[in-house]
Amino acid sequence: MHEIGYCTGVLEAVERRAEGRPVARIGVLVGTLHRISPAAFEQSFQLVADGGVAAGAQTEVQISPVRATCAACPAAFEAAEAAPTCPDCHSTDVATEGGDELVLQWVEFRKDR
Ligand SMILES: [Zn+2]
Repeated sequence: MHEIGYCTGVLEAVERRAEGRPVARIGVLVGTLHRISPAAFEQSFQLVADGGVAAGAQTEVQISPVRATCAACPAAFEAAEAAPTCPDCHSTDVATEGGDELVLQWVEFRKDR
């Protein structure tokens, strides 16, 4: 599971923000190019977070697409690969941005305990 590596980085960000408070849920924005499965991310996060402030925290993973604009026609579209082909004119002359994000968006803390 390559998600483990991502979880370690996210967990560090969560712990910095938590400052010792127990974490209930986190929201993460992940670019589609990272090929992360939300279910595998959740599982991996449970493994790396075990024993810390984020132990048992739920994860909400939002996948962000590659945003592409075609240079040969006016098409603008979303894609799941780094070098997409234009769906309208089938040109490969396409400018892309995004799809490679890895952002901790929000952290929700537990109110009890
Ligand atoms: Zn096009």
